[in-house]
Amino acid sequence: MTSAPNLRLINVRQPNGDMVHLSIENGLISAITPAAQASSTPTHTQSIDAAGRLLFPGFVDAHAHIDKSLLGLPWYHNEVGPSLTDKIDNERRYRVEQGIDSYTQSSHVARRMINAGTTHVRTFVDIDTEIGLSGFDGVMRMRDEMRDELTVQVVAFPQSGMLARPGTVALMEAALRNGAHVVGGLDPSTIDRDPKGHLDTIFDMAARYNVDVDVHLHEPAELGALSVELIAERTAALGWQGRVVISHAFCLGGVDDSYTGKLIELLLKNDIAIMSHGPSGSRAAPPVKRLHQAGVRLCAGNDGIRDTWGPLNMPDMLLRAFLIAYRNNFRRDDELEIALHMCSYGGAHVIGAQNYGLAVGSPADLVIVNGQNHLEAMIERPPRWLVLKGGKIVQSAK
Ligand SMILES: [Zn+2]
Repeated sequence: MTSAPNLRLINVRQPNGDMVHLSIENGLISAITPAAQASSTPTHTQSIDAAGRLLFPGFVDAHAHIDKSLLGLPWYHNEVGPSLTDKIDNERRYRVEQGIDSYTQSSHVARRMINAGTTHVRTFVDIDTEIGLSGFDGVMRMRDEMRDELTVQVVAFPQSGMLARPGTVALMEAALRNGAHVVGGLDPSTIDRDPKGHLDTIFDMAARYNVDVDVHLHEPAELGALSVELIAERTAALGWQGRVVISHAFCLGGVDDSYTGKLIELLLKNDIAIMSHGPSGSRAAPPVKRLHQAGVRLCAGNDGIRDTWGPLNMPDMLLRAFLIAYRNNFRRDDELEIALHMCSYGGAHVIGAQNYGLAVGSPADLVIVNGQNHLEAMIERPPRWLVLKGGKIVQSAK
């Protein structure tokens, strides 16, 4: 990373309401002092007066699909059928017909993410026997070019099915050899129709390439619950506690209370995290507050952003926190805090962002916005006044 100049942010408001001055040296937070305490800025250091604006740690999008976003392209007229397979087949066809380029699209989305204060993203990149590694290669190129502005973690993801499409596993392994950080799975029963085979293959790759696991699980009720049990068994067998995420996990809200309780015990025992993006249409959704109170690690993401699956998601984690709060009927301050936590510290923990946060020694990945307090900012979603990545200014509206 190229070194950013030293910087002092004065009069920023911490989430606890305290007004502080922040010193940034060599890309890290080097000192935090109460604003009431008189201190001078060394003449060689640039100083920015935030005039009491709010300080957030950089937002973490722990689940995106930026290789296939249509953001920036002409409006996509969505006439897609209702089933998951309709959406997968339609996307594959459209992407080839239109020559959607993952490097161009992911660069565009990454820029929009940065402008909205996202400093870390875990993105799932489609790998299948039609496009091979072209989507993966484009995202890796974007990741390398933008590494000073956004930390990108790439998941090798079999969106079109894995065992059902022979040749896919070899391509996923090629991606893992070439720098993919995480191996992804997808609805082991309903897509591959072979839950044991699908999950055994995923966990075998995880072991051989020493990577984390992140499984999309849209399967409802008891079917999804079975997949959770099978994932937990394999997590325990491999000793992969703390390294597995189940994304969406609609089934956690689709079985009876006592069964949900048993599944939560399994998640805790194996330290499996849950990603929820909030809205789930008419489907059940994971009970975010109950999971949080039980101690399950939670994170959130924008999922597919303006793509052939749907036009509604945007690359803004304050909006995501709002949507999670809305979906879960959150009203109390302590409930809204859960949604914000998922989009920041929760996601950082899940994707392994080192020393994340607002402490001395943390990377200066920071967002500053207007607002009375952090919860109000989540509702108002003001423009991001200043965004820093590693102490470097990457977005400024000031
Ligand atoms: Zn997804």
